[in-house]
Amino acid sequence: MKKLIVGNWKMNLDVAGACALAQQLVNAAPFKVDMAVCPVAVHLGAVADILKVGGIAMGAQDCSDQDNGAYTGQISAAMLKDVGVAYVIVGHSERREYCKESSALVRAKAERAIAAGLRPIICVGETLEQRKAGKAKDVVGYQLAQSIPVGATDYIIAYEPVWAIGTGVVASVTDVADMHAFIRVQVGGGVRILYGGSMKPDNAAELLVTPNVDGGLVGGASLTAESFLALAKSV
Ligand code: PEP
Repeated sequence: MKKLIVGNWKMNLDVAGACALAQQLVNAAPFKVDMAVCPVAVHLGAVADILKVGGIAMGAQDCSDQDNGAYTGQISAAMLKDVGVAYVIVGHSERREYCKESSALVRAKAERAIAAGLRPIICVGETLEQRKAGKAKDVVGYQLAQSIPVGATDYIIAYEPVWAIGTGVVASVTDVADMHAFIRVQVGGGVRILYGGSMKPDNAAELLVTPNVDGGLVGGASLTAESFLALAKSV
C-alpha cells in the first residue's frame, strides 16, 4: 500500500494563494506517495482546475450528513464529488470540539460520503487529559466503534491525538506505534491509518516508517510547498 499524504489547509489562504500553492505542488509531481490537499470549501472549484492535470487528489474538510434540502450553509457529499473532490475529512477534532460533533454525526457524514463515491478520512484521537488518565485507547476505541459506518471498507482513519494538533508537540514513535496497532486490530488490514499532529519534514520520516502508519494528515506543514514537498519526499 502506497503512503498517503494529505494536506489539511484548514481556514487559511485566499483563492490566489490556494491556487498558487496547488500549482507549485502540481509542478513537483509525480510523487512516490499518493498526495491530496484539502482547501477550504469556497476554493475547491478553483483548485480543482489546477489539480485536474493529475498527480494530486483533492479533499474537502467536511460534508453534510444530509443529501440535500433546507440545510442552510451545508454542503453535501454529492456536491463535493461534483466539483472534483475524492476525499473528505470527517470528525476532525476541531469540529468535534468547536461544533460539538458527536461520533454518531461523524458516522452519518461518513455514510453520505461513501454513498456519494467519496472516501471519508475519519478522524479520531484523545485529549491530553484522557491520555494522562490512561483512557486513550478507550476513547479512540469508542470513536472508532461509533464513527465508522457499519459494514464499510472504503474509508481511511486518521489518528490525531488532540494534544499534538497545531501544538508542535508530536506523539512519540512508541505511542504512535502502540495506538496504530490498536486501531489496526479494529479496522483490519485493508484500511489506511494516517497519523496527524505536528507532522513536519524533520519528524515525518520516522513516523512514516512506523508499523501501521500508512501516511499523514498534515496541517501547518502543508501550507507552504517547500515544507509539504519536503515532508512528502521524506517517505
Ligand atoms: C490537523 O489539523 O489535522 C493537523 C494534523 O494539524 P497540524 O499538522 O498543524 O498539527
